[in-house]
Amino acid sequence: MNNSRTFQEDDENDTLLFTKAEEYVLKNHPNPDRIGCPGPATLRAFVEAPRNVELAELNGLHIMRCAECTRDLIELRRQRTRDMQSPRIRLARSIIWNWKLAGIAACLSLIAFTWSALHQRERTEEVARLSSASNNSVSMLVDLSGDGVSRGTEASAPHPILLPSRLLNLHLILPYYSPSGTYRIFLTRDKSTSSLVASAEGTATADGPHLELHVEMNLNQVQAGNYLLGTQRLGDGAPYYYPVTIN
Ligand SMILES: [Zn+2]
Repeated sequence: MNNSRTFQEDDENDTLLFTKAEEYVLKNHPNPDRIGCPGPATLRAFVEAPRNVELAELNGLHIMRCAECTRDLIELRRQRTRDMQSPRIRLARSIIWNWKLAGIAACLSLIAFTWSALHQRERTEEVARLSSASNNSVSMLVDLSGDGVSRGTEASAPHPILLPSRLLNLHLILPYYSPSGTYRIFLTRDKSTSSLVASAEGTATADGPHLELHVEMNLNQVQAGNYLLGTQRLGDGAPYYYPVTIN
């Protein structure tokens, strides 16, 4: 009873649920002999750039049943967050916070943060146009998992995500084992925080090892060109970036 109530109160951000899941693995799946563990380099790569790591390299769902790997991943995420929290970034974040307070977000240019991941294979496919004529938005599927082969889309040649300058209903598939929770999704010209173009927030829900997320993002006023799509889980971690071309 207490648990369910606590989780309901956790609606805004599933951090508690995710932490509980980690605690469960830590407690119930000791693996002192490291049987079946991916190598340290793989775990590090997974935390740095989840999309670059194949599910097979992680030995499938191993990390969800291995206390040792879970402990390593927690520490690696902490390290990554510490590395990203340089004074410059903290200053930038405080500037952004002030912008929010000032209501500059009134136009489409809100701000956001993300997880960072460079040099990644991007893929996107338009799945449908909304039938509602009153809502001139476009639905787009953006698959950040790198799981292109099983989806039958083009091969894994790296190319940026293509998005139209429209009001978008974005359906994002996040990289494997991304933690549940509330995410900020944003568009920026580069990683400097003064170049943010648009942002939105949404709560991600798990679908097997995948995490999916819906957000609406208005890119009507965005000029064609190259941008970065950022994803950041609220409350922890540094942003991840994916190249985007607006056309
Ligand atoms: Zn392991």
